[in-house]
Amino acid sequence: MRAEAETHALYNALKHGSDPEVGAIMGPLMGENPDFRPHGDEVPGVVAPVVGEVSGLSDDERRERLLELAPELVEELEAQDEEDDRVLPDLPNADEYDQIRMRLAPNPNGPWHLGSARMPAVIGTYKQLYDGWMLCRFDDTDPETKRPDLDAYDEILDAIDYLGFEPDEVLKASDRVETYYDHARELIGKGGAYTCSCPAEHFRSLKADAEPCEHRDKDVETVREEFEAMVDGEYSDGEMVLRVKTDIEHKNPALRDFVAFRMVDTPHPREEAADYRAWPMLDFQSGVDDHLTGVTHIVRGIDLQDSAKRQRFVYEYFGWEYPEVVHWGHVQIDAYDVPMSTSTIKARVDSGELTGWDDPRAPTLASVKRRGIRGQAIVDAMAELGVSTSNVDLAMSSIYANNRDLIDDDTDRRFLVRDGDASDATDRDRLPAGAAVAFDLGDDAPDTGHPPLHPTHEDRGDRDVPASEAVLLESEDVPADGERVWLKGFGCFRRDGDRLAWVGTDIDLVREEGVPVVHWVGAGDDEHVRVRLRTMDGDVVGYAEPGYADYNVDDLVQFERVGFARFDAVPGDAEAAEAHEYLAFYAHP
Ligand SMILES: [Zn+2]
Repeated sequence: MRAEAETHALYNALKHGSDPEVGAIMGPLMGENPDFRPHGDEVPGVVAPVVGEVSGLSDDERRERLLELAPELVEELEAQDEEDDRVLPDLPNADEYDQIRMRLAPNPNGPWHLGSARMPAVIGTYKQLYDGWMLCRFDDTDPETKRPDLDAYDEILDAIDYLGFEPDEVLKASDRVETYYDHARELIGKGGAYTCSCPAEHFRSLKADAEPCEHRDKDVETVREEFEAMVDGEYSDGEMVLRVKTDIEHKNPALRDFVAFRMVDTPHPREEAADYRAWPMLDFQSGVDDHLTGVTHIVRGIDLQDSAKRQRFVYEYFGWEYPEVVHWGHVQIDAYDVPMSTSTIKARVDSGELTGWDDPRAPTLASVKRRGIRGQAIVDAMAELGVSTSNVDLAMSSIYANNRDLIDDDTDRRFLVRDGDASDATDRDRLPAGAAVAFDLGDDAPDTGHPPLHPTHEDRGDRDVPASEAVLLESEDVPADGERVWLKGFGCFRRDGDRLAWVGTDIDLVREEGVPVVHWVGAGDDEHVRVRLRTMDGDVVGYAEPGYADYNVDDLVQFERVGFARFDAVPGDAEAAEAHEYLAFYAHP
């Protein structure tokens, strides 16, 4: 009975990640062992000490012991863990393919905003789940309206890397224009496309009435000649297009004889592609590429639902099989005033309203990266949203919570006493305003405080926070006259006007008498460094303990009671030089 009870206690504890409870074990124990029932009264007496023993073990020890008693239960637990980790649904018909092949298809018309991270987060996670193949294909065949930004190609690859993924192959559609021409020629040969010189407005009204235009039944030879003239750049914008012949009476007008190629007068910004004037439309280009690169699963936004339908006509002509498709809805992210749109962000950066794509107010990957948020925190939050076709909201707080889990253990604690004008801060609970206030210390107080570098890792040691004559406190932490305050890592003081009188280091004052614990720095010139903390709500300046000067760019620190921040620049750097300030970017509470 003892062994049975121990097995149940171990299993129960491991399953719930907590200490076992007698009550929770009794049921299954009696249920599985009918022969115990006549001894019902004695069972709790056996179970209770076993539960006590198991409570004293670590998870590793519990697992080890359960492996001795009932290895099959350990296996069961592992299988459950794996299932719990999988937040995304299975890909459709995944087992029908030898290899799952997917593509990211960014338009490099600007760096990525936060919403763009959903594509690599979900597709990259699927790639890992299925040990699949992932292409990054730049769909850059629109030299005009969504004109490629030459820097964005690398910026997007950097963003994919930041999110923790690596494409197996990278292609640029603008390198593949000849391939699209070849497929257009083949489609023309099959009678699946025709050149059309109807003014756009005229064709639109014919199409709305489900009426074919006069060019639809042109003979193939003429179509061929006119298409070659398009390729040779003999027409201008709007003079000639190549249309895919679908069903001019299709119930969805968007699918009626859609444009596959058009003329664009503006040269492509990439030198290698600058001579092309006849450009494929996205649906034609991406449809051909998906087939040629063996894509098995397309994961994309619901707004591209018509794309799949258009592309199926092309696939039909070529006798190709259309990949499996997973559609998702829009993702909205709270916490930003700037809309999540590449063109809007670009406009605000160009006008100087935002200092750059990494301005903390910009809803971009560059911005959250600069704040010290890890790509993994974003990927996990995006994967948790799943792939439903309804619109979803992503709370920044869930990205922050993920990031805190990732960084908390390795991040040092430091003090920052905020000072100065936070009048442009909109969230005053998070960033209280008010000036730092100085208090002289009596002669009997020690001259250095020693708070720990990390609250749960004492082995990492203490910091030295000097305060030879006076300290600075945040205005909101100033005690009323006569009241006591505990300066963290230093000791207890009682306010006496503009002085703080030493009380002592009896921690029971905090535990039993509720003396408030606050952060502080020394007031002497060499007892703190100036820090500018850049937040989504504006800049806050303050004074950090001198040890802050020892960090390097990219290091993370938790300013106690303020939040996590990334060390961005030293006073010697251009941005921070003028004010002799260290620049830090606020991550989250
Ligand atoms: Zn026409």
